[in-house]
Amino acid sequence: MKKFDVAVAGGGLIGASIALELARAGWKVALFDRQEPGQESSWAGAGILSPAPENASMIPLVPLAKASMAIYPEFVGMVEGISGQSAGYRPKGTLQAIFSRDAREELSTVIALHHGLGLKAEPLSAGDARVLEPSLSDDLEAAVLRPDEASVDNRALTQAVLDAARKSGVHFFPGSAAESICREGSRCTGLQFKNERIEAQWTVIAAGCFSAKIEGAATYAPVRPAKGQMVSLRAYALKMERVLWSEKIYLVPRNDGRVLAGATVEYTGFEKGLTAGGLEKILAGAIELSPGLANSRVEETWAGLRPDSPDHLPILGPTDVEGLLIATGHFRGGILLTPVTARLIREWITKQSVSLDWERFSPMRFQSASANR
Ligand SMILES: Cc1cc2nc3c(=O)[nH]c(=O)nc-3n(C[C@H](O)[C@H](O)[C@H](O)COP(=O)(O)OP(=O)(O)OC[C@H]3O[C@@H](n4cnc5c(N)ncnc54)[C@H](O)[C@@H]3O)c2cc1C
Repeated sequence: MKKFDVAVAGGGLIGASIALELARAGWKVALFDRQEPGQESSWAGAGILSPAPENASMIPLVPLAKASMAIYPEFVGMVEGISGQSAGYRPKGTLQAIFSRDAREELSTVIALHHGLGLKAEPLSAGDARVLEPSLSDDLEAAVLRPDEASVDNRALTQAVLDAARKSGVHFFPGSAAESICREGSRCTGLQFKNERIEAQWTVIAAGCFSAKIEGAATYAPVRPAKGQMVSLRAYALKMERVLWSEKIYLVPRNDGRVLAGATVEYTGFEKGLTAGGLEKILAGAIELSPGLANSRVEETWAGLRPDSPDHLPILGPTDVEGLLIATGHFRGGILLTPVTARLIREWITKQSVSLDWERFSPMRFQSASANR
């Protein structure tokens, strides 16, 4: 039987970054993926790095998101240094477009919300916004500049993290789907695969929206897939520096001139089909925000499955099964939350204490919810 200090189920950005951090701390780590790693949500995302909450229910996430944002440059530097590959990190800010007739009121609400959460946000007139981003629509009423936000090429980052993990000594097992966790009494002793059992002192479930399919993990990680459709556009004569964001859509410029437009949020199970309605919504929103995109070339369309939890917040930390940790449920923010997730899991495994309060994200919260019903 193969033995490791740590067995990680799931080779997306989350699992691979955890494996990388632990290998660098001197642990013998195995990374299992049911296919080639890095082909699911971490491949499909847009790569926006924004700690701003999209609605009130996401406010508890802000401290974690800010902590991750703060260590992002250091994380990217470490990954790029080891892998020798660029992650396409763009610390250029976000511009939030406001089209409503009550622009003045909306502007002050948005600014107050951000400032109340300790996030930088500056009001802009439509004219000033168009000076910064000339592709913005003439119908714009006002805008908010969020200068500390950024984006990353998540496909490039995922490949760089996987490469850095390999170079740091992580043992890779592609094509290995974990079927269940192994238990001896109240202890998790590793993972069970179709034809073999792997022994590990620590087991981390980081299989994205598939985590609940691993027997023994579902009670701690009751995640489900939230499909997002995306479009990549090539606009030759259009200048876009920042992430552009409106109520309907976001646009994410890449270093190579592409503009990614997305995304839908749909609960349709584990299928990744594209729909006419989904693409229409994305393209109409993109052209409304930046009319010049009407002439851009559609280069690629795809869909991916976000790992969503019952309260839409991540599921992080130890369980009541000794040695079993969960790191999933990152929903719409897993690319942003990768550095802090990897750091916290590494801290717990190496010291059994963490530098940030993560109680709110405990995998045990679903147990108490079902016990109270
Ligand atoms: C359209 C879209 C847009 C997004 N945009 C953003 C964004 O702008 N910013 C942001 O921060 N986040 C964004 N996200 C969310 C982000 O992509 C996810 O939260 C993040 O990638 C989750 O990473 P993960 O490693 O947990 O999951 P995944 O990347 O899905 O990785 C899970 C891995 O587990 C493997 N696996 C599954 N079952 C098993 C098993 N039984 N055994 C072993 N391995 C298994 C899978 O093959 C996969 O490789 C977006 C997501 C989508 C779909």
